[in-house]
Amino acid sequence: MTKPFLMEPYKIKSTEPLYFTTREYRKKVLEKAHLNLFLIPARDVMIDLLTDSGTGAMSQAQWSALLRGDESYAGAESFFRFESTIQKITGMPHIIPTHQGRSAERILLGALKTRGEYLLSNTLFDTTRANAGLLGFKVLDLPSEEMKDTKSEYPFKGNIHLEKLEQALQTHSVAGVIMTITNNSGGGHPADFENIKAAAELCKKYKAPFILDACRFAENAWFIKTRNKSFQNHSPRDIARKIFDLADMCYVSAKKDGLSHIGGFICLRDNQLFTDCKNRLIPLLGFSTYGGLAGRDLEAIAVGLEEALEEDYLHYRISSTAWFHGELKAASIPVVHPAGGHAVYIDVKKLTPHLSSSDHPAQAFAAGFYGFSGVRSCEIGSVMFGESYSQELVRLAIPRRVYTRSHLNYVIESLTQFQKEVQHLKGIEITWQPEVLRHFTAHFKWKDKTAHTSPA
Ligand SMILES: *Cc1c(COP(=O)(O)O)cnc(C)c1O
Repeated sequence: MTKPFLMEPYKIKSTEPLYFTTREYRKKVLEKAHLNLFLIPARDVMIDLLTDSGTGAMSQAQWSALLRGDESYAGAESFFRFESTIQKITGMPHIIPTHQGRSAERILLGALKTRGEYLLSNTLFDTTRANAGLLGFKVLDLPSEEMKDTKSEYPFKGNIHLEKLEQALQTHSVAGVIMTITNNSGGGHPADFENIKAAAELCKKYKAPFILDACRFAENAWFIKTRNKSFQNHSPRDIARKIFDLADMCYVSAKKDGLSHIGGFICLRDNQLFTDCKNRLIPLLGFSTYGGLAGRDLEAIAVGLEEALEEDYLHYRISSTAWFHGELKAASIPVVHPAGGHAVYIDVKKLTPHLSSSDHPAQAFAAGFYGFSGVRSCEIGSVMFGESYSQELVRLAIPRRVYTRSHLNYVIESLTQFQKEVQHLKGIEITWQPEVLRHFTAHFKWKDKTAHTSPA
């Protein structure tokens, strides 16, 4: 029998309540949170699509593995299971656990600081960009040409722009080239195998380290399997391994394709860099066999990484996102094409011609839509990346194995209704902001207070 379309490859054993709220109530919640969805208590969110990071449901195998956690300070058995699982998947010899992806970034990029002035990327994720900035790197995003056109159906928009990459490698002193797979900030799009390979070869030619931000390596592998004919008969594990084989090193947040609630890791081939990273790890996160994680976390990650490569899981994961994307498109919501892996992105500019970028339309949309529906989404636009960022996207990230189709049907229905009042959406302004990563904590208010008729 062929695979049943979109049937979850699991049953639900344990449930968590979600609380229904009214539009009136949420309006108050929103004002109290200064229109910043990161400042809203999760209890007041009905469907939480803020992020897919650490928000997934663990399997019974993972929950059982927790009990096996060896909490020894040094040389815990859990570490060796974690290490050998990751060695097998990546083929890299040196594995360093970290408490999240961002601490992996901080440690690895810190160790690369002396190698050059620039970091090049298809698109750096926001925490990577912030860490690069704090460490004094200059960064250059070199996304594919196709990325700019949100309507284009090009299957590998996560590719890096190879001509621009070569140019930058020729003219700048480069500490590393970071390939983010899948390209989270740019639409959750995958990079193709040939593009990753060509980028790796350029790095070799110009002697720059080739680094993978491999948070969604399994989803990227599945896209290559299903969108690149030469890989249709390869397993996701095999494709992932072929990609890792191209890289000098990688860092990963285990909160995505690690199917875990916390954790991350760095993988390296170079002995000197391994020593350097461990020296940076110990004062910051802890000894090199736990890296700020409990033994039980290492166990959950080891099991999660294996589960994320299962074909039934990946088929369900990617085709359910595609279904969600298709339903929104059918409802005339301007979504970024084609469907990404972990999220669907709304191109808010197309819905709000009456707002300019100084009105932060995507933040206004995300806030307004929360008030309307109780659905929490995430701005990826001028608030997250600054006024010079050209896109105004709202990301609906889908936690792994958490929501059913009826939950997503509620989101689809709500967006369809919300779209009808979006021409009244007010712009917002920033009333307070911190120095870095402002989107997490900034305060906002609706512009034009007196005539406020926005759909909050
Ligand atoms: C989530 C993420 C990170 C950072 O990982 P955390 O575990 O959240 O610190 C880095 N890069 C990408 C592409 C991510 O999606």
